[in-house]
Amino acid sequence: MPGKVFLTFDDGPNEPYTSQILDILKEFEAKASFFVCGKSVEYFPDVVQRIVNEGHAIGNHAYSHSMILTFTGFLKREIEKTTEIIQKVTGVRTNFFRPPWGIATPWIKSYLKANNYKLILWDINSYDWAKAPARFIEEMVLKKIKPDSVVLLHDGKEAKLHSNRLQTVLALPSLIKNLKRKGFICKNINEKY
Ligand SMILES: [Zn+2]
Repeated sequence: MPGKVFLTFDDGPNEPYTSQILDILKEFEAKASFFVCGKSVEYFPDVVQRIVNEGHAIGNHAYSHSMILTFTGFLKREIEKTTEIIQKVTGVRTNFFRPPWGIATPWIKSYLKANNYKLILWDINSYDWAKAPARFIEEMVLKKIKPDSVVLLHDGKEAKLHSNRLQTVLALPSLIKNLKRKGFICKNINEKY
């Protein structure tokens, strides 16, 4: 049996990159998970609908990716607002949450627990956020991948419009092919939790 791995894309949707990623996932019959910012969902609702229609998971990544709100832990309203926007656009009420920069203060952890959210972090950092070239992104993932790994990738940048994610898009076809060759199958995070 091949091991399952979970590719996750944060900070989108962000066009044209999110649509390009969806095209690649479709071509290679891979499933993934998208941690979207509420603000970006308002920019590109159709893309979020497509994510859900094509069998990928959707998760909450707060509304505005605000550094001050994340570091102080005042994310309650941002989380609620984003869950509402996702539900309005897709009909899906997600209980997956990933905090901006993966920073979960104790206060946020207890809020998530009380409201039945699952805190989803990652064990493989692709470093695509650090302007790494496609080949490096792929290598970082392949070097450390193991069954059940959750891989951090980005289709956007902190809810900003039209941030360049070309290197992530370029890395993806070869990455998925090599994961398959190693016996891994890319799945929607619903299959992990
Ligand atoms: Zn983020």
